[in-house]
Formats: sequence, structure tokens, C-alpha cells
Amino acid sequence: MDLLALLNTKGVVLKSQDYKENDKLIWIYTEAEGKVTAIARGSKKSKSKFLSMTLPLCFADYSLFQGKNLYNLQEGKIINSFQGLLDNLDKLTYSSYVCELIDICVEDGEKNLNLFKDFITCLYLLNTDALDYELLIRSFELRVLKATGYGLIFDNCSICKKPINSSTYISLNNFGGVCDECNKVGGIYISRAAYSALRFLNNTPMDKVYRLNLTDEVKKQIEKVTTYIIYSNYSKRPKSLEMLNYIKE
Ligand SMILES: [Zn+2]
Repeated sequence: MDLLALLNTKGVVLKSQDYKENDKLIWIYTEAEGKVTAIARGSKKSKSKFLSMTLPLCFADYSLFQGKNLYNLQEGKIINSFQGLLDNLDKLTYSSYVCELIDICVEDGEKNLNLFKDFITCLYLLNTDALDYELLIRSFELRVLKATGYGLIFDNCSICKKPINSSTYISLNNFGGVCDECNKVGGIYISRAAYSALRFLNNTPMDKVYRLNLTDEVKKQIEKVTTYIIYSNYSKRPKSLEMLNYIKE
């Protein structure tokens, strides 16, 4: 008999989709194997034990059998279903967005323990009322960029590598600040305050970002930088924030 490979791992459901009459496909970001796709058989039935553990945002200990193409959900023990995030439009939108970012920016099977921890931390922090969600999201975006090879450089000129304390220009091709001497093309001008804030967010653990108190203008500039880089470097564009930005206009 072939030994079936069983994967026991913590993970969060990023999204789900109905499959055939009674089943669901779920995309889980796992601690052990990165992003995986699993089938949850019978999970659409109202009495299914899988019902709550296959909902988006559910954080659980999952047991998955490795099938030919897909994993099969075998069991799960919920750690935090994060369903409280659904009560509030801001929280809902931001938590959908962090899931979408992982889905878009991380390749299947690409493991990254630090990013997984940051992802869980971000969901826990969104689930509290203590933080500036916008800053938290920017901080998470910078971490996703770093983890997927597009980390931004703030302590050196991204072109000539000379150490710099500050800058008013971010090169989008070189992923970082530009010194006074280097050519400023293919990037965007930002204020020195926005530059310092970006550097702080990039170097500070996510649970400490509330120490930053920024004007709306500075927040807008930071958002412009991260959005530009996310929109131009991954094959799909995130859509979760569009509605929120529309409402805030
Ligand atoms: Zn330079």
C-alpha cells in the first residue's frame, strides 16, 4: 500500500469556492507549505463538521491528505475563526485585502515562516480596536514586498548604494530612495516626512506601528508608493481596497 502523505499545519483560509454539489475548494496559506489548495468534501452540507473551518479568514490546525492534484481536508481544529472581522466594513475590507495580497503575491508552495507570522499578527491586530488600520496595512504591504523579493531600500541610495539619511524620491525600478546626485527617473517624489515614515514602517514590528502619528497627506504619499509597487510587480492587481477607497472619496 502507498503511504499517503499527511500534512499537519496551521493555516488560514484565504478564499473558498463551491465545487460540485456538496464540496468546496479552499485556498489555505499554511505555515508548513505556504499556499495550498484543498478540497473539503461535503462541506456545503449544513451538518458538515467542515462548515466553519472552511470559511475565509478561519485560522486553524489543519490535517490535509496529499492527493494527486489537490490536498483533501481531513480534519481541523479552529484556533480563531476571526469572524469578528466581518462586523465592520473597514475590518472586513482590510482583512480581505491582506488575504488577497497573500493570494496574489505569494506563489503556490512558497514557504515563508516570517511572512506567515506577520500575516497572523496582522489579522489579530485588525481584530482589535487599538490601531490605525491604514498604517498596519502599509506595514503589512512592505513585509509582503520584502518577502517576495521587492523589498524597499531606505538606508542607501537604491542606485549608487551610497548611505543616505533621507530622500525626496523613490525609484520604482530600483525599489528605494535616491540620493541627491543620482538621476531621478521612473519614480515618484514624496516628502521627507513620508520617506521617514516609510523607513520606520519598514523597520518596525507590526505591533509597534501605532507609535507613528501621521497626517493624511503623508499617509496618502506612502499609500501611493506601496500601491504603485504592488500594481506593477505582480501579475494580478488586488481589488479589495477599491470599494473602500471609493467610499472614502
Ligand atoms: Zn545615488
